[in-house]
Amino acid sequence: MMPLAPLTHLLPHLLRTGSEQRLSVLSYHRVLLAPDAIRHADPTVEKFSWQMEVIGKYFNPLPLSEAVERMANGTLPDRAVSITFDDGYADNYTRALPVLQKWRVPATVFVATKYLDGGAMWNDRVIESVRAAIGDHLDLGAIGLDRNMAVTVENQARVAQDILTAIKHWDPQRREDAVDYISSLVGDPVCDLMLSREQLLKLHEAKVEIGGHTHSHPVLTAIDDERAAAEIMEGKERLEALLGQRLKVFAYPNGKSQADYSRRHRDMVKDAGFIAAVNTELGVSSSRSDFFQLPRYTPWDATALRFLTRLHLARRNVIAN
Ligand SMILES: [Zn+2]
Repeated sequence: MMPLAPLTHLLPHLLRTGSEQRLSVLSYHRVLLAPDAIRHADPTVEKFSWQMEVIGKYFNPLPLSEAVERMANGTLPDRAVSITFDDGYADNYTRALPVLQKWRVPATVFVATKYLDGGAMWNDRVIESVRAAIGDHLDLGAIGLDRNMAVTVENQARVAQDILTAIKHWDPQRREDAVDYISSLVGDPVCDLMLSREQLLKLHEAKVEIGGHTHSHPVLTAIDDERAAAEIMEGKERLEALLGQRLKVFAYPNGKSQADYSRRHRDMVKDAGFIAAVNTELGVSSSRSDFFQLPRYTPWDATALRFLTRLHLARRNVIAN
């Protein structure tokens, strides 16, 4: 399966110790059964499996909180990697966990608590609505968008992305109303993708680290400070009550610095009692990094060698798009 065998003699050279301890944090959302044009950034089970094989065999994967603690006290191992999943999708339990266990790779899952037990995130509802509209036209004039969006198999990904981009930074209530409207146009398709509480507890029992991701996943810059602090705390407290354990790490919803969160939100996360937070800026971390703004990246490579090379280059702070 993994076309690495001819290269193994090069690995000690390729992976040799750098001058400074660095942590690569990889960012995932879902793990799919088959490739999906709209969710092109999410790996299939097959792809995720060889990625975790590479991580398990050639790197030192750590739960994020342990990686942060060891980065702080200077004991981070060489080739340190943390695997993270955002939002709390059920397939993290049904599809990712067996793979993680097979290759003994620990992981951290950031859960937006509002969507446990059958909830649906706004972006997923848009995606499933666009999918349901294939072969038809969407008239979104009522919410100030295109009056005539023809949806085809070929353009479904672009149509979905255009809608997501257009409404992403709207006030949460206005955005929710818009999504309700789009969904109603196509008969409110079923969108049952998130973890149940029972699955969350099973992930926790399997030693998958659970992290905070707010309660309802707002773009923090789109709401006032009082609400932002309450969102950060509510997600944390709900998960701590469920798990009977303190949460250590947090991921900013959407996660772009300035656009999606600001310095104020960074301080709120610290004040809430977390020890570290990750964003979605591109990069790797060292002990000199701001532990409340650790960057991540998504490995989208099609082959194990490219994936391995990207991880290697990232450790040298070379992140290629
Ligand atoms: Zn998220």
